[in-house]
Amino acid sequence: RKPRIAVVFGGRSSEHAVSCITAANVLKVIDRDKYEVVPIGIDTSGHWVLESGDPERLSITNGKLPEVDVTALPVLFGAGRELVVHAPDQVPSTLGEVDVVFPLLHGPFGEDGTLQGLLEMSDIRYVGSGVLASAVGMDKHYMKVVLAAAGLDVTPYVVIRERDWSRHPQACREAVDRLGYPVFVKPSRGGSSLGISKVNSREELDDALAEARAHDPKVIVEAAAKNPREIEVGILGGLDGADPAASVCGEITLTGGGHDFYDFEAKYLPEEVDYAALSVPAELPEEVAAEIRAQALTAFEAIEGEGLARVDFFLTEDGRIVINEINTMPGFTPYSMFPRLWAASGIDYGDLVDRLLALALTRPTGLR
Ligand code: ATP
Ligand code: MG
Ligand code: MG
Ligand code: MG
Repeated sequence: RKPRIAVVFGGRSSEHAVSCITAANVLKVIDRDKYEVVPIGIDTSGHWVLESGDPERLSITNGKLPEVDVTALPVLFGAGRELVVHAPDQVPSTLGEVDVVFPLLHGPFGEDGTLQGLLEMSDIRYVGSGVLASAVGMDKHYMKVVLAAAGLDVTPYVVIRERDWSRHPQACREAVDRLGYPVFVKPSRGGSSLGISKVNSREELDDALAEARAHDPKVIVEAAAKNPREIEVGILGGLDGADPAASVCGEITLTGGGHDFYDFEAKYLPEEVDYAALSVPAELPEEVAAEIRAQALTAFEAIEGEGLARVDFFLTEDGRIVINEINTMPGFTPYSMFPRLWAASGIDYGDLVDRLLALALTRPTGLR
């Protein structure tokens, strides 16, 4: 039989809608002659359902963000690799063994190693990074610890956990003051810029912390890079032999609209408004581009990434290369940087999906 691919999307994080939009597009391009596809949605409370995967419904319509169909039949992994429909008052029925899970999930409970751990427990193959890389890549605090240890330049930061803030708010504020304003306040485990604020003075700090905490009890505050150029690189594992490869560099330029950083609207609502331009390849001196691509590979190997990642950098006014972050499940919609980077490197969207599935299918299970 054809390999059976479970495309898993939605999820419990703030990026539920983004994941649905990605799934709509991936489901359109998976080669049905080659693969059998089972669309699996995870709703915002964490229930798994057998989704129709209808790309129409999973897209932005009239500015409304899509979500997983909560009325679909409940489904779960039964014994081993078998997917089982488990509706109340019904005899469980099997959908058969799954050969590869494609977790198109962003954010906690999906991109952070939790789903990966669940799959590892049953020897189920999946696309992308394993437990450790996913967890490190998700948490901007530990990500910086690991990237700095690999010799990469990271922005200065402080971590403010819920318990720090509730016991010692003044000490937290003073720690942030020492970074110097402006700062970026972020949920430590987030994405798509959700919950992120740029803070220009102490007066704006408390509100920004509360906003970030609404997404994650662990907050990270970073010194702002000054007027940086934003350069991103895509990584694909196992392209030429086993070694991961870096795409060309891409650049994000904000085109106004009152947005002073690359926020959620600029990332995902480009049909309605024109906030950001992606230039691929970025206009960079050859040696600078080569250095950034090399650092992207260093970052991928530092976290022990697998399959794919997008690595985000700042190129500062004085020519320093500072790594902002690595994303183990980068934005994957047609407007997103990751597919655009690979298209410019000769691999189109459908090709990309096909290569990721092929890579996952041949990956050994168990400890690697
Ligand atoms: P992604 O969707 O890429 O996963 P994210 O939610 O993880 O996003 P970041 O990439 O950390 O968020 O930050 C979002 C944007 O905020 C950056 O692309 C950049 O425009 C701005 N930004 C974040 N941190 C800094 C910083 N230290 N200095 C300057 N700009 C920053
Ligand atoms: Mg990110
Ligand atoms: Mg992300
Ligand atoms: Mg980013």
